[in-house]
Amino acid sequence: MALIVQKFGGSSLSDAESIKRVAKRIVETRRTGNEVIVVVSAMGDTTDELLDLAAEVTPIPAPRELDMLLTAGERISMALLAMAIKGMGEEALSFTGSQAGMITTAEHGSAKIVDVTPRRVREALDQGAIAIVAGFQGFNRGTGDITTLGRGGSDTTAVALAAALDAEVCEIYTDVDGVYTTDPRVVHLARKIDSVTSEEMLELAASGAKVLHLRAVEYARRHGVVLHVRSSFSNEQGTIVYDPKKGHPKGAQVEEPIITGIAFERNEAKVTVGGVPDVPGKAAQIFEIVAKTNANIDMIVQNVSEDNRTDISLTVQTKDGRKVIEALEAARETIGCTRLQYADQIAKLAVVGAGMRDASGVSAQLFRALFDAGINIEMISTSEIRISVVTRADVMEKAVQVLHTAFGLDADEEATVYAGTGR
Ligand code: ADP
Ligand code: ASP
Ligand code: MG
Repeated sequence: MALIVQKFGGSSLSDAESIKRVAKRIVETRRTGNEVIVVVSAMGDTTDELLDLAAEVTPIPAPRELDMLLTAGERISMALLAMAIKGMGEEALSFTGSQAGMITTAEHGSAKIVDVTPRRVREALDQGAIAIVAGFQGFNRGTGDITTLGRGGSDTTAVALAAALDAEVCEIYTDVDGVYTTDPRVVHLARKIDSVTSEEMLELAASGAKVLHLRAVEYARRHGVVLHVRSSFSNEQGTIVYDPKKGHPKGAQVEEPIITGIAFERNEAKVTVGGVPDVPGKAAQIFEIVAKTNANIDMIVQNVSEDNRTDISLTVQTKDGRKVIEALEAARETIGCTRLQYADQIAKLAVVGAGMRDASGVSAQLFRALFDAGINIEMISTSEIRISVVTRADVMEKAVQVLHTAFGLDADEEATVYAGTGR
């Protein structure tokens, strides 16, 4: 008997009808002789609505209470789904993150999984039941509190359970047919990718392709879990995310394209520390200040020094932008800079492809295409298999469209987006 983990995102569980549809699908998997663990997200846009509600009550909600609030979303879907499955004649038992043994660090809102002790999930399977687990939540042993793994974290719950219980595959069910060359909500001619290496998927997820949670991809890679991203609204074969070192799970020979896909991030902010004395130790000082704010830095650019002074710019997510600029402002005298600038109307896009390693001229082609479209580039950074550029927020989507066409990624027909609001 194979063990299969299936994760259903919010848009697949938006109302009672969808819950019944998903329940039917799970029951079919069970009846073909598999053991099934299901991980659920909150229904529809519940998490966003709960966040809005919290913001109405107080401008800065207490992180512990926010986690209490948000985890309620997944509890609703797990209980309703278990009821629906039982109504169809199969046994099902739902579990919160802590009941399922998802042990995490203590940081509310961005906890990391440190241990998985799924004894109760295993027992449920042994009794012949389908186990339904609330995604995105865990429990910290030190504080005794409930935590969450960060937005989109249900994918990571699913992968962690698949790894802990040695599942054959971890299926991520969503509202599109798989991983596309870019977000099909933005580029209608985006093309579905049959299989993608975990290395490329990591770069895409880290650059904003929210179809998979970054940490889920990292976890899957570390533990050798094969992911299958597919739609809960169709029976199409989706996208296999695999580690080429371990070989393609279906033995397929996949030639790596030069460009695999384009990801983007709308919520970026740029901070410039201008006129920094060009002496050793200044970068260390600046980035120690930024590190204390716990902000995640995306990109860093240092200009050539003039008159022994230089500018250092960095980008962070918009939600962290204010606290970074405030921390730098407070240390302005110590740094000895002449200027601090903040811009939040910017966005970032990244072109990713493992074949870039051996190809030349990719950056030239990228910059030419953006120039031809009249799009100005504000910052550039690269890795071996990625080129990222920062643009003004209002031209980013156009830039993605232009590059999708320039790199020959356009499909012949439009992609299907089955549901969801894209929120
Ligand atoms: P779920 O609620 O199922 O977790 P998400 O909204 O988190 O779904 O992720 C699915 C969405 O990710 C798609 O509807 C699509 O708009 C977006 N997306 C962004 N980049 C991509 C990509 N490269 N391929 C497919 N979907 C993408
Ligand atoms: N419900 C959470 C969110 O919307 C977790 C998830 O869906 O993965 O971010
Ligand atoms: Mg998601």
